Amino acid sequence: MKKHNFSAGPCILPQSVLKQASEAVLNFNNDNLSLLEISHRSKPFVDVMEKARALVLELLNLNDDYSVLFLQGGASLEFLLVPYNLLKIGGKAEYLDTGTWSTKAIKEVKHLGDVNVIASSKDKDFTYIPKDYTIDSNADYFHCTSNNTIRGTQMKTFPKTDIVNVCDMSSDIFSRELDFSQFDLIYAGAQKNMGPAGTTLVVVKKSILGKTGRNIPSMLDYQIHIDKDSMFNTPSVFAIYVSMLTLQWLKDLGGIKAIEKINNAKAELLYGEIDTNVLFEGTAAKEDRSNMNVTFRLLDTSKTEVFEQLLKDNGINGLNGHRSVGGYRASMYNALPLESVEVLVGLMKQI
Ligand SMILES: *Cc1c(COP(=O)(O)O)cnc(C)c1O
Repeated sequence: MKKHNFSAGPCILPQSVLKQASEAVLNFNNDNLSLLEISHRSKPFVDVMEKARALVLELLNLNDDYSVLFLQGGASLEFLLVPYNLLKIGGKAEYLDTGTWSTKAIKEVKHLGDVNVIASSKDKDFTYIPKDYTIDSNADYFHCTSNNTIRGTQMKTFPKTDIVNVCDMSSDIFSRELDFSQFDLIYAGAQKNMGPAGTTLVVVKKSILGKTGRNIPSMLDYQIHIDKDSMFNTPSVFAIYVSMLTLQWLKDLGGIKAIEKINNAKAELLYGEIDTNVLFEGTAAKEDRSNMNVTFRLLDTSKTEVFEQLLKDNGINGLNGHRSVGGYRASMYNALPLESVEVLVGLMKQI
């Protein structure tokens, strides 16, 4: 049975990418060696790394004031690396608290210094994006989360600020056109919209580094990873290769501009059904709804069993809400075709 994969992460990847990746596991570059058994310093892999890096800058429309890193430890380790590399000794950071992931990011700053939560939507279970706040221009940096994967909210606009601007874009990078140059540091775990689990993308403006006065351990130091071209230690070769293929797939499709149109069409279709079907209710504030993770509830719980059987019988995968929230969550990352959303909406009409 064909599956429709709404998984929140790791999540759907383009079929053509999976096919190429599986071939490379057996025979990479027609060299009769697996991608998994060659040196990361061999020319074929160095080419992969360089291509991946170039594609990131090209798709985000950034110049080489920025460095692109492929690190390990997930976005979760960036929660710590960001303050390590940007928070001055005795300095202060400004954080916007919009969900579970921001809350975790805030916690890590406390290992190193002061963090000021300038606004939070915790009062309403993170179902909206706070809009009324000011960023202290004396702080070392500002941090926000562009898309809140668990509650299904997304920042539609970003505050203007003169201080260093940091964004966790794990679950919506490459999904919509933005002026990415408004940020000085962007990070994203690969497994939501870029590739498989195992690598984290960090895009950092070089000029912001080296200002903290801290002695940074090597593996936590962005400058060392920049100097070593993301090969200070052995990088996750497979995750980087598959990410490169996915970025190439996106470029061939027409880049972010083209995928944004498709993503908008998917979101309009599903939110349209949620808003008109009396059996369902969306759980995020309308103006802050995420185009990537659509959270909703079935109001008539006597129909739960019928609905879930229908989902199962029709190959719908990964629609359960996050374990901390319940309800349903349809994650509609770049590789999810519109057709899968059409199938889901058809089933919502059927019950
Ligand atoms: C999934 C996620 C993370 C955590 O990513 P890991 O790679 O698992 O550490 C952080 N931030 C956001 C917005 C996420 O969606």
